[in-house]
Order: sequence, then C-alpha cells, then structure tokens
Amino acid sequence: MRKSIKATRKNVGACKIILAKKVVKTIKKCLKIDIKPQKYVGQEGIYMDNFYDVIVVGTGVAGLYATLNLNRDKKVLLVTKDEVLNCDSYLAQGGICTLLDEKDYKPYFEDTLKAGRFENDLIAVHDMIVQSKEIINDLISKGVNFDKNTDGSLNYTREGGHSTFRILHHKDVTGKEITSKLYDRVKELDNVTIKEFCLVMDIIKDGNSCVGVVLKEKNNLPVAVYCRDVIFATGGLGGLFVNSTNFSHITGDSFAIAIRNGVELKNINYIQIHPTVLYSKSKGRRFLISESVRGEGAKLLNKNGERFINELLPRDVVAGAIMEQMRKDNTKHVWLDFSDISNAEILHHFPNIYNKCLEEGYDVTKEPIPVVPAQHYLMGGIRADICGVTSLKHLYAVGETANNGVHGANRLASNSLLESLTFSKNCARVINYDKSEFKNSTAKIDLKKYSDIQQWQNENKKLVLEEIRKNDEVFYDKWCNIQSKR
Ligand SMILES: Cc1cc2nc3c(=O)[nH]c(=O)nc-3n(C[C@H](O)[C@H](O)[C@H](O)COP(=O)(O)OP(=O)(O)OC[C@H]3O[C@@H](n4cnc5c(N)ncnc54)[C@H](O)[C@@H]3O)c2cc1C
Repeated sequence: MRKSIKATRKNVGACKIILAKKVVKTIKKCLKIDIKPQKYVGQEGIYMDNFYDVIVVGTGVAGLYATLNLNRDKKVLLVTKDEVLNCDSYLAQGGICTLLDEKDYKPYFEDTLKAGRFENDLIAVHDMIVQSKEIINDLISKGVNFDKNTDGSLNYTREGGHSTFRILHHKDVTGKEITSKLYDRVKELDNVTIKEFCLVMDIIKDGNSCVGVVLKEKNNLPVAVYCRDVIFATGGLGGLFVNSTNFSHITGDSFAIAIRNGVELKNINYIQIHPTVLYSKSKGRRFLISESVRGEGAKLLNKNGERFINELLPRDVVAGAIMEQMRKDNTKHVWLDFSDISNAEILHHFPNIYNKCLEEGYDVTKEPIPVVPAQHYLMGGIRADICGVTSLKHLYAVGETANNGVHGANRLASNSLLESLTFSKNCARVINYDKSEFKNSTAKIDLKKYSDIQQWQNENKKLVLEEIRKNDEVFYDKWCNIQSKR
C-alpha cells in the first residue's frame, strides 16, 4: 500500500514537471521570448535570476546608509557574510560626533587634524563636519534615540582628543541603537533584497570596470552576479589580529580582493590600537572599555596604583604609554580605576561596561579592572574620494573599508560612525546622479578557483598582512604578532 502511494506521488510529481515544461514551452512559443534569464546567469548551472543596479557589500552603518540613500528605482542587493547586525557598527559604544554650532567648527576641525597628525584630507574633514548636523537630524527622523538631559536637550559626552563635549550617545550602546534603527528602515524598502551569510569572494572586471561580484551563499556553490555598481562597505580587518575589538569575521576581504585586482589601497598600515580593552586570557573578540570612561574621569594606573599618563591624550599616545608601562612593570596589563566617577553615573552612562565587567568577575564601582591595548580600527584601506570613488570604475568603497583621508594617520574618537554615514550618503548620491551610458556586461569568470574557502581565506590573510609589512615593518613586528594568529 505504502509503495503504491509512493509510486503515485512520484507519478504526480513527474506529471507536474512534464506539465510545467509544456506550459513553459507553449508560453515561450506564444510570446517568442526566453523565459529563463539567460543574460545574467551565474555559472556552474546556478541561475541568479536577477541583474542588480547596485550590489552593496556589508551591513554596517556604511552599507545600510548607502542603501537607504539610493533612489528607490534602483534594484539593490545588500549582502553580508554573517547576520546583518553582526557588524562592528553595532558594537560602537562611545557615540557619534557632531558639530555643536558655528563656533565649534574650528575646534572640531583642529581636534580631528591633531589626532590625525595633520595628514588628513582637508576637504574630507570639512565635508564630514558640515554635514554632521543634517546626518544627526536624519538619524533622529529614522527613529534613533540619543540620550537627553532632564530639560529635553541632547546630552553630549567627551572622549580623548576632543577639546569639548560634542559626542551624542545612546547610553553606551550607540552603535546598536543606530545600526538596528537603520536596519529597520532598510527592511521597509521594496527595492532591496537582503542576503545574510552571503560571502563576496571577488569582483568581476570587464576592462577597467567592475561589473559584478562572485558571491557564495551558505551551502551553495559560488556564483557570478552582475550589476552596474558595487559598493564595498566591508569594514576593517580586526579579524586578522589575536587581540582585536572587532568581530572575528571582519577579516579585510575587500583589501585582498583589491590587491588581486589591482585596485589601489592607501595607508593600509594605518591601524589604530585602542588603549583599553578588558584583559582576558581566552581567545576571541576583546571587550572594549570605551574612551568616554576616561573622558568622564577614569584613571590609568600601573602595578603600584600610580598614574603614568594623561588619559585624554590621543589613542596612539595612550596605547604606546600603556605598552611601555607593561614592559617596565613586566605585567600583562595595567589597571583602569573608575573611582572618580560616581556609581550613579557608571550605572546610568555605562550599563553595558558595568554588566560585562561584572560577568568577568570585576565590579567597576568597587575595584579597578585590568586593561590592555588591542587592534581597533583601520584608517587606511581602499583609496577613495569623499564619494567613495575608487581607482576602478563602478567600484565604490565607503566606511572603514575606504581611505578617503578623513582620519589622517589616526582617527579622532567617535568620528568613524559619522564619516561612514557622511561618505556613504555622498556615494549613493553619486550613483543616483550617474546618468552615463552603461552597457551590461556578463564577463566570463572561472568560478572553480573559488571552491576552497579555507584556501581563499588563508591567501587573503597572507596578502593583507604582507601589504601591511611592506608599508610599515615596525608596526607589523610590534602589533601583528604573526605566530599567534587565529
Ligand atoms: C567595539 C567597537 C567600538 C566602537 N565604538 C565606536 C564609537 O563609539 N564611535 C564611533 O564613531 N566608532 C566606533 N567604532 C568604530 C565604528 O563602529 C566602525 O568603524 C564603523 O561602524 C564601521 O562601519 P562599517 O559599516 O564601515 O563596517 P562594519 O560595521 O564593520 O560592517 C562591515 C560589514 O561588512 C560585512 N562583510 C565583511 N566582509 C564581507 C564579505 N567578504 N562579504 C560579505 N560581507 C562582508 C560584515 O559582515 C559587516 O556586515 C567602534 C568599533 C568597535 C569594534
């Protein structure tokens, strides 16, 4: 009996297929069109039945905000190699900078330049500062809540390198607040297809133009997908380091892709080491102790409980001083003491830090915590202008992936969320206004070479670390710490 049911089901299934094939054949005949989208097929027999106007790679604030600023008539594919909210943007604690008023323009400009050791691109700095208020208002209109004072005005905090209080925040989880609200808005868009666990392994080139990407979804073969414009918003490269505050899947893939395809990089060795992460003996992402803790009064102490540095100096100076102190004291960390901040302020402003430290066995309201420096942020990256334009036509780079010169040699605290938003918005506008003639391309690509992901990852790591070494051997030896790589 069971057998006959199975056989009947099989027959019905077979009939359906034959019927479906017949229907397709008839429609094809009538309409004289080819129903399968032959033009934009991926290879290896997998059909990507779509051609996109724009493929955005990365779902941090840069990728999400670029997507939100693209015209609604653009067909957009937004991909990320993990879950959407597993991005460094989500982890941002301290806040986002903004220009306070006209009088603040000069000090804000100078603070950014000082932190960047005056290597900053002046136009980029100007553009970011003057657009900051508009960006903040747009975030608020999209549902982002910033902390307010009792009179309803916005509450500003301060971090190292800032001459005044100009940082907006949502408790100590500003990145979570901004990223999740932007994601909510993206989900409302009909013109955007979102794919999680979708890894971009390469770009496809036709002459001096980028015409698509090679992407691999979980449990599928790599496929070629074509488009008019690609935006790389893939973040930094912390996943290549043992001690990093970044998600470990943020491994600088786009830099390896750029190197392979002759796309120009700039200052890839300009890597910021954050002075204070919670010291841990275990492997994995390190927990950041935000700079604003020091802005509010926390003090760095050596093994004898003595201060050894002005905690509000730029990050590289403080990180270097901590390393030097650890060397002198022959210790694996220094201490961060919260006793100059009231308990009420700790619980109100830093609940995330308080709870995380408690989980690790430290009560910051009662005792100092052990801290060390760790890789935190990449100022260098794919060379781009303030609209994300790279050396390859139709390939754009925004957010931490891009080097547009705004940070110079070192980023001023809390400038990176703002710059990611500013320049990804510029980038979307350039794409919106680009009315130049465009010929669809389906340049052939050999997909077999992408079948071994592990090998691809190992080669990427080698390529990027070698590029850092070529640029700055001293930095490489001090911080890249080859032997104990993940
Ligand atoms: C712990 C921490 C705290 C921070 N605090 C602050 C702060 O207070 N203020 C501030 O201004 N900045 C802060 N920053 C920095 C800031 O969060 C980031 O620089 C900024 O958000 C970068 O955004 P992004 O969109 O460029 O990249 P990310 O948010 O890192 O997103 C990168 C995206 O690219 C995807 N991706 C990467 N490679 C691939 C690939 N091959 N294929 C598909 N997808 C890929 C990732 O999955 C991810 O979705 C902090 C960073 C960290 C780590």
